[in-house]
Amino acid sequence: MYRELEEKLGYRFKDPSLLKQAFTHVSYAKEKGTKHYENLEFLGDSILNFMIVDILVSEFPQKREGTLATLKAYLISEDFFHELAQELQLSGYILMSRGETERGHVNNISIISDVFEALWAAIYIDSGRDCNLVKELFGRLFREKIVNMIKEGKVRKDFKTELQEITQKKWKERPTYRVMSVEGPSHDRVFSVECTIKELRTVGRGKSKKQAEQEAAKKMVELLTSFSFEASR
Ligand code: MN
Repeated sequence: MYRELEEKLGYRFKDPSLLKQAFTHVSYAKEKGTKHYENLEFLGDSILNFMIVDILVSEFPQKREGTLATLKAYLISEDFFHELAQELQLSGYILMSRGETERGHVNNISIISDVFEALWAAIYIDSGRDCNLVKELFGRLFREKIVNMIKEGKVRKDFKTELQEITQKKWKERPTYRVMSVEGPSHDRVFSVECTIKELRTVGRGKSKKQAEQEAAKKMVELLTSFSFEASR
C-alpha cells in the first residue's frame, strides 16, 4: 500500500513498520496497541529544520541572518509542511481511530504537518541514519520549489510581522500579546495567547509561546483581511 509513496519519495523502506508508525496517530495506536508517530515527529521536526536552513544558507549566501530567519519561520511552519505533504498526498495514509476520522481530523492541517515531520524521521532511521541520503531525497523533491518561491517573493512573512505591518498602516498601532494560560504536563504544554488590537481579539494555541503567538497573529490577519471586516469599516 506504500508502493506509490515510496516511488514518489524515491526511497524503498527496509522496515515498512517504521513507515506505518509515521502515519499512526496516537488515537489509533491506543486502540490497536501499536506505536504512534509522536517521537518520530519530534525528531523529524529537527531534521526538517536542519534541511531547510541548509538550503537557505547554501542557496542564498548573500542574504542576512535576519532575512533568512524570516524566511525560515515560514518554511518550517505547519502551513508550509502541510503544503509539501499534500504534494505527496500523505493524508490518505493517516491511521486514526474511527472517532477521530469521523470528526474529519484526517484533514487537520497540524496532523498532516506532524505526519510529514514523522515521515522524514522514519526515512532517516530506516536508512541507518544517513543524513546525506535524507538531504538528497528532500532536495530532489523540494529544493527547487523552495528556491523559486523565495526568488519570486512568494514566501510569506511570519504572521506577527505581517500583522504589525497591517495594524501600523491602518491605525499606527501595534497589536499586543498576552499569555492567558499554560496547561498540560511539562513534556506536552499548551500555551494560549491572546492578541488584541483596538476592540478586536483573537486567541492562539500552541506548543510554545511563540507558536501560540503566531497562531493568534494569523487569526488576526485573517480577521482584518476578511471581506466582511473590510466591508464593515
Ligand atoms: Mn509537529
